[in-house]
Amino acid sequence: MDRWKAFEARVREIKDLDGILGLMTWDEETYAPKAGRGPRGRHNATLEAIRHERLAAPELGALIEVLREDKSLGSDKATMIERIQRRRLREVAVPQALVRRLAEARSAALAAWQDAKRVGDFQAFRPYLQNVFELTRARAEAIGAAGGRYTSLYDVLLDEYEPGMTAARLEPLLSCLKEALVDLLEAIRSRGTPPDRSFLMGRFPDASQWALTLRLLADLGFDTERGRQDRSAHPFTNAVSEHDVRITTRIFDDNALSAIFWTIHEAGHGMYEQGFDEKDHGLALAEAPSMGIHESQSRLWENQVARSRAFWTHYLPLLKETFPDQLRGADVESFYRAVNVVKPGLLRVEADEVTYNLHILLRFELERALVGGQLSVADLPAAWNERMKRNLGVSPPNDGVGCMQDIHWAQGAIGYFPSYTLGNLYAAQLMAAFERAQPDAWGTIERGQFGVLLGWLRTNVHRSGYRQTAEETVAAASGEALAVEPFLRYLRAKFSHVYRL
Ligand SMILES: [Zn+2]
Repeated sequence: MDRWKAFEARVREIKDLDGILGLMTWDEETYAPKAGRGPRGRHNATLEAIRHERLAAPELGALIEVLREDKSLGSDKATMIERIQRRRLREVAVPQALVRRLAEARSAALAAWQDAKRVGDFQAFRPYLQNVFELTRARAEAIGAAGGRYTSLYDVLLDEYEPGMTAARLEPLLSCLKEALVDLLEAIRSRGTPPDRSFLMGRFPDASQWALTLRLLADLGFDTERGRQDRSAHPFTNAVSEHDVRITTRIFDDNALSAIFWTIHEAGHGMYEQGFDEKDHGLALAEAPSMGIHESQSRLWENQVARSRAFWTHYLPLLKETFPDQLRGADVESFYRAVNVVKPGLLRVEADEVTYNLHILLRFELERALVGGQLSVADLPAAWNERMKRNLGVSPPNDGVGCMQDIHWAQGAIGYFPSYTLGNLYAAQLMAAFERAQPDAWGTIERGQFGVLLGWLRTNVHRSGYRQTAEETVAAASGEALAVEPFLRYLRAKFSHVYRL
């Protein structure tokens, strides 16, 4: 049998398992009954063990070895081989028993987190979290020992979400960002004129909000024939396949904006998943090269687009039609300012664009210390609260809105948080590039012609998939290397206007 065909068949099987596991995660966080969590943990563990077996199979290793030497294959095939080899090396290094234990630990932690977060009981969650951190460290140690090119356990974990990125490279970017954000926040606090947001304080019926989010999805270009929206406590996107992209949102009837921005955020992820080249479907090329670039797509639509004046020039009439009594006093300028209020708060997911990255920095510092052993899980709440006070000036009344607010650590997604900040930086670079490429960029958004931006993103970001690294993709699209300046320029321009600085 043709070696390439044999390799491709194995890749498709691994991708099938990815899809099935994705569907199960989606189910667990949307509709699965609570009582099913125990058996579900075992289902997950069994499937993950099978996927591990497939990736670690010596036959796959032998095929990769031969195919890597075949220079006649061309660059796409070579990229696919390298992609699978990358995944394979991380699996081969980890004993199957550890894979299974970690999958079970994550399922148990997720269930414990859901209950403990609601009542703010960190002690109930602590042993589960400790277990996830210990097993994740063991996994990172195994991978690090096999690879040898990592300088810290944290880099092993970071590399999973941001291939090639290191904490040492991130640190100067993040500290430069932190300094500028603290300055901007200080200017806003001391000299700014706060926007009026009293018209956002009413009640916004659930059914109207749900209908509105579906309308937004269709308008932006999320293909509902190849995807769907449901609800979950912590919204997410999960691509079962390129033709079945699941996104979720959440609705609060005392908050008109939460569902809108969640839906748009996840639509950005979802449209990326739907935007890979048709001929790559089911293969390792139809993948984002990093989670940072994935987050750039969600953050671009959520912030650069949906928190712009142009966007609300288009949508405020519809919003006022939907909620006529609540929004009677709003005009475009006041609404634009109201959706860009800067207020240091407890929750990352409700944070504005100025303070958001300060939340990420705190998590980056803490998870690095937890992985590095400088901080114990038992001391996490105190360390969290101390940093919240220092960086943002707020104190969580309980750990449910403190160190337990995010799903990531319970899920074992340790080393993920920097992807959000990278996403913000990439998004600013991409939007500035779109403005340069499209003279009437903001006019198209004001007229609701979102296909122009989506088309540009399809061509410049989505279609290349795994062929280019995240940094290469953004550099090719924007003509500049990863930098904080475009993001800071964008923030300063926007918030000088919003806060009349
Ligand atoms: Zn996201």
